[in-house]
Amino acid sequence: MTAPHAGGCRCGAVRFEASAEPHHVSYCHCGDCRRASGAPVSAFVGFPVDKVMFTGKSLKMYENGPVTRSFCAICGSPIAYVDDRLEDDIYFMLGAMDMPAAFTPTQHAYVGEQLPFLHMSDDLPRHLKTSVTRPDGTVP
Ligand SMILES: [Zn+2]
Ligand SMILES: [Zn+2]
Repeated sequence: MTAPHAGGCRCGAVRFEASAEPHHVSYCHCGDCRRASGAPVSAFVGFPVDKVMFTGKSLKMYENGPVTRSFCAICGSPIAYVDDRLEDDIYFMLGAMDMPAAFTPTQHAYVGEQLPFLHMSDDLPRHLKTSVTRPDGTVP
């Protein structure tokens, strides 16, 4: 599948479109994503933020430290997060994409917080913390 990649919320009030290919597709097992999504594991599709356009007026933000998560104010669907430490990127919930099957995760992040009963039998790289390399080249 090639760009543009579109997505949106459950009710359709929030829509977005990315005009570039994703640079990152990852599972996240952290407790913060778990609270925000309600699901035992989340998955995200990362794009350059300057290649993303939103339409609709119902997008709401919730700031928690360096991370700001967005959701639809009408239906509550989680949409995306941005991180002050990764200012060029935006990460959409994989389930918010119109074609979620097109975005196969390539790694697991924060497996140190993975729920003990959750077993995912793939051979993907597993990171104890973040899977995203910082701009200075390190993976903390
Ligand atoms: Zn909605
Ligand atoms: Zn997370």
